[in-house]
Amino acid sequence: MNCYSTLNPALRVPISKAILDGLADDGSLYMPENIPRLPDEFLKNLSDIPFETIAFEITTAFLQNQIPREVLLSLINDAINFPAPVFELEENLGVLELFHGPTLAFKDFGARFMSRIMSYLNKEKPDLTILVATSGDTGGAVASGFFNVPGIRVIILYPKGGVSFLQEKQLTTLGRNITALEIDGTFDDCQTLVKKAFVDIECKDRLNLSSANSINLARLIPQTFYYFEGVKQIKTNKNIVCIVPSGNFGNLTAGVMAKRMGLNISRFIAATNINDVVPAYLTNSIYKPKPSISTVSNAMDVGNPSNFDRLMDLYGSTWNRIIKEITGYHFSDEKTLQTIEKCFKEHGYLLDPHTAVGYLAYLADQSRYGNIHYLLLATAHPSKFLETVEKQIGQKVNIPARLVNLKDLPKKSILLSNNYYSFKEYLFKTFF
Ligand SMILES: *Cc1c(COP(=O)(O)O)cnc(C)c1O
Repeated sequence: MNCYSTLNPALRVPISKAILDGLADDGSLYMPENIPRLPDEFLKNLSDIPFETIAFEITTAFLQNQIPREVLLSLINDAINFPAPVFELEENLGVLELFHGPTLAFKDFGARFMSRIMSYLNKEKPDLTILVATSGDTGGAVASGFFNVPGIRVIILYPKGGVSFLQEKQLTTLGRNITALEIDGTFDDCQTLVKKAFVDIECKDRLNLSSANSINLARLIPQTFYYFEGVKQIKTNKNIVCIVPSGNFGNLTAGVMAKRMGLNISRFIAATNINDVVPAYLTNSIYKPKPSISTVSNAMDVGNPSNFDRLMDLYGSTWNRIIKEITGYHFSDEKTLQTIEKCFKEHGYLLDPHTAVGYLAYLADQSRYGNIHYLLLATAHPSKFLETVEKQIGQKVNIPARLVNLKDLPKKSILLSNNYYSFKEYLFKTFF
C-alpha cells in the first residue's frame, strides 16, 4: 500500500517509507491511500476471533506482504503480550481497559508495535536513532517499547525537575539501547533541541534519525486493534458508541479507521479536559488552536492536536460529515475529580483522571440520547496518578508490582544544558 501526505495528496510513498520517516518531507502527516475494508466473514465472526488474529488481519491489510506471515505473527505476539478486557461497569457501559501493558497506559500498544515494525523494516540498513522529547508519559512508553529492540537506539530528552519521580524512573532505569538526557531547561527546550537536530542535515544523516511520536502511522495501526477487541466483547443489539478521552487525537483517529474497516461502531465521543479546541470545533465549526492549559489529566493537555489534520482528511474536511459521527464534550478538573470519587463510591471502581473525563461524557451523552451501549476507553491505570486519586477517595491505592519495583532501581541519565551545540557535540562524541 502507498501513503500520501495530508498537505500534498499527489505525493505517494510506500507505507514502509512512511513508517520509517514518521513525518512527510513537507512536514505534514502520512495517510494510507485507502482504509482497507476487512472481509465480511471476519467481521461477522468477530466474537470468535482471538486478539492476535485480529491484530494479524489488520496489519496484513495495511502492510500486505511486506513481512512474512510467521515473522509477523511472532512480532505481534511479542508486541501485544497483554490483554484488553472489557469491564461491564453499568448496564449500558463497558470499560475497555487499555492499561495492562508495561507502562500502564494505552500508549504501550502503539510504542511496542511500532518499535518492532520499524526494526524489521530497517533491518538491512544502518541502525536507526529515535530522538524523542517528553514531558513524561510518551517517553516512558517509548523507552519501554523500544528496550532491547535490535538495530534501534533511543535518545530521550526530558526536562530536569519537570517529570514525576516514577516517570523519571521509567525513563532512566533501562539502559542498554535507551539513553536518557536530562536537560537543564523546560519541555519546550527539549522539543526545540529535537526539532533542530531533525533539520540539521549533518546530524540527521549521520545518526539516521527517526521520530516516534504519535504522528507515526505505525502507532495508529495497533490502536485500531483494540477497538475490534472491545466491540467483540460487547453483547448487545443496541448501537455502540465509543468514548475516547483525547489529547492529540491519535486514539480517536484510529477508532474512525476501525469503523471504516467495517467495525460496528455508530458514533464516537471526543472527551477532553478544558483544552477543548476539538469539541469547540464540533460545536461551532471554527478550529482555533490555543496554548495548552495544564490540568489533572495532563496527557490530554494539548492546544493544537497533531492528528486533527488526519481526522479532517478522513471526513473530506467537511464539518457536516464529521459532526454526524463525532460528538464533543469537555469538562473541568473540578468535575473530573468529583466523578472519580462518585464512581468509586457507587461501583468500587477507580478511574484515572483521563478515563474520568470519558466517564463524564458518558453521563452527559446518555442523558441526551439513551438506548445506546457505550464503550469507554480507559487510557491509564489509576495508580499512575497516585497522589491525585488517593487524595480524592481518601484511601491508599494498590500499585501493580511493575511500578513498585521501579522505585528502587538506580537512575542513569546524562545532564546537559539546553544549548544546541553542546547537545550536538554530545551526540557525535557518543554515537558516531
Ligand atoms: C496520551 C494519552 C491520552 C490522549 O490520547 P491521544 O491519542 O493523544 O488523544 C489520554 N489518556 C492518557 C492516559 C494518555 O497517556
